[in-house]
Amino acid sequence: MKERYEFDEGTPLSAFVMGVPGKRTFFLIIGQKEEWVRVWLEKEQLETLALAIDQFLLTLSQKRLISSREVEGTTLSDDVPSGLPSAELEIDQITLGFDQGRATLNFLVHALGPQKIDQAVLNCQATLAQLKKLANQAKVICAAGRPRCIVCGGPIDPAGHICPMNN
Ligand SMILES: [Zn+2]
Repeated sequence: MKERYEFDEGTPLSAFVMGVPGKRTFFLIIGQKEEWVRVWLEKEQLETLALAIDQFLLTLSQKRLISSREVEGTTLSDDVPSGLPSAELEIDQITLGFDQGRATLNFLVHALGPQKIDQAVLNCQATLAQLKKLANQAKVICAAGRPRCIVCGGPIDPAGHICPMNN
């Protein structure tokens, strides 16, 4: 364990949700292969992050620091990397930075687990397209209520789902 985590621009960065309604937990995955971290956060924090990114991109485009083309067109993996993360982190604070065309997500975190660390720093450089995608993912998963059945598209209750397509 270390107290500082650094990720370069282009490192996969995605928002995820798991669990049943009412007990959903939200997290970000940053990194890939052997070097990735899971960052747990509250739904409200994820919603706030999405709004902050939107505002951030809007401000940049209003100041003509970026063109809309820069926030489009990216393909990123949405898979959770295999194996164990380098760290399980929980967010205390998130800030967005921008310098010379590069965005940085700065997180103040603490580490969970046996090697508990009270305060650590995570810096993740991201392209604007990545930020945009992250904000969109966050909005989708925060807005979604019950998970959907992949067969019929209907909502799946905590108690289960009787699929009309299987009858
Ligand atoms: Zn179904």
